[in-house]
Amino acid sequence: MNSMRVSCPCCAAAYDVDSGFVGRKLQCDRCGAKFYLEAAGDRVVTRAAIRCPGCGVEYAIEAELLGRQACCADCGTEFELACEAAPTA
Ligand SMILES: [Zn+2]
Ligand SMILES: [Zn+2]
Repeated sequence: MNSMRVSCPCCAAAYDVDSGFVGRKLQCDRCGAKFYLEAAGDRVVTRAAIRCPGCGVEYAIEAELLGRQACCADCGTEFELACEAAPTA
């Protein structure tokens, strides 16, 4: 298996991950945010795992969309697409 370089969509920390992790959810060691690794053609992209504060359903959000307002497709709650970073100890 190949390893490849990806970066956390929330804090841009770079990681070398094994291609076997594509399609899985990872957690950033640095900021604590959870994100998905997804195949996009011959590249791999990261998408932040963002939970709706209204109903808790999880969305995989492209890094470019972070900071925007979104409306939950399930419950209609409007919320900001912001990374759920774990507090640093
Ligand atoms: Zn991070
Ligand atoms: Zn919702």
